Amino acid sequence: MMRGETKYYDTLGVSPDASEAEIKKAYRKLAMQYHPDKNPDAGDKFKEISHAYETLSDPESREMYDRYGEDGPGGGGGFGFGGGMSQEEMFAQMFGGGFFGGPTGGEGPGLSKSRKGEDISHNLNVTLEDLYNGKTTKLSLEKNIICGLCTGKGGKANAIKKCTTCDGRGVKMVVRQIGPGMMQQMQVTCPTCDGEGSTMRDKDKCKKCKGAKVVNEKKVMEIFIEKGMRNGEKIPMKGEADQQPGVETGDVVLVLQQKPHALFERSGADLSCKITIPLVEALCGFSRILITHLDGRGIHVEQPAGSVIKPGQVKKIIGEGMPHFKRPIDKGDLYITFEIEFPKDNWATSSSLKSLEALLPSRGAVPMEPELVDHCTLQEGDMEDYGAHTHTGNAYDSDEDDGGHGSGGPGVQCAQS
Ligand SMILES: [Zn+2]
Ligand SMILES: [Zn+2]
Repeated sequence: MMRGETKYYDTLGVSPDASEAEIKKAYRKLAMQYHPDKNPDAGDKFKEISHAYETLSDPESREMYDRYGEDGPGGGGGFGFGGGMSQEEMFAQMFGGGFFGGPTGGEGPGLSKSRKGEDISHNLNVTLEDLYNGKTTKLSLEKNIICGLCTGKGGKANAIKKCTTCDGRGVKMVVRQIGPGMMQQMQVTCPTCDGEGSTMRDKDKCKKCKGAKVVNEKKVMEIFIEKGMRNGEKIPMKGEADQQPGVETGDVVLVLQQKPHALFERSGADLSCKITIPLVEALCGFSRILITHLDGRGIHVEQPAGSVIKPGQVKKIIGEGMPHFKRPIDKGDLYITFEIEFPKDNWATSSSLKSLEALLPSRGAVPMEPELVDHCTLQEGDMEDYGAHTHTGNAYDSDEDDGGHGSGGPGVQCAQS
């Protein structure tokens, strides 16, 4: 694809091939950094970031941007995206709002924690049939959810005490000797409170989560595999990762892993396959179901008598490839490479071969014979062995390099006449 300009990608610090998730992640990071509440001196930087994200987060406007650049088709100066959502609204929607109002829970170290929990990636095995037909599947997932009994506090509200080891910061400084007379000061997670910044007596801890604030839960999720999705495609399940108090829950990201198919290979929206036909069909044509497609349909093909299919010849059927993602009515093409199955040895009598020969194109004129002729026999050959003679320490190979094989030697089974 031709890329007109990449300014918006540069603004977000991602490559023009970045996935939706990568773009989102980059925006999230930069928006945090340059939000006017946090960084009043950043000028228009936040606006720029938001505008770039606005454009690139929407597949349609991203495609327009890739194609026509910032000015849109005809240079009309921008397009309208996002249904008129303001940058603040967009920001609030993404971060759940109220983020810069300071930690509301009043517990824990707050700012030193990351604001979003980790995304969890799972492989999801699919068949090419699934990607062709689309599929709804169920996935059972175990995850931590915020304890309902203590609402994620870990115990009675008044039982939470600020950790005295770290003074509630969740971290403490330790001095470590890294060499003779050399000391290094470094920050480690507080071992007393495990980085929580607060402690609780055992008897005050929540009966359900035993102070862990979260409990394990098994959840069955419904996954929609859409027609035209690809191997390696990511399906984000928003906010389905482990929950943690005070942290925005990360996503579970399902990564499609397509099992190899017995017949078809896929490249983009095209499919390819190898089909073996008997010699009689290669020469005399056919009218039959040639292929059973991924949805079980028979693909009937008519190859008229008179047109010959040669070994290795490639034909294609327009519109019988994979459906395009999000517009499954459109399909790629199906490429067929033909292999010809020849008859076995001694398949016909010599008299029937004579009548066959009469039908086939003639052998052609015999060239003038040179004076010296060697009579040779054809042996079965395997290209795996090709070149194996180059460095053998064979007694027949002379030490001086005489240029290899041409002069005759072992394996050349000829008789001069
Ligand atoms: Zn609890
Ligand atoms: Zn502590």
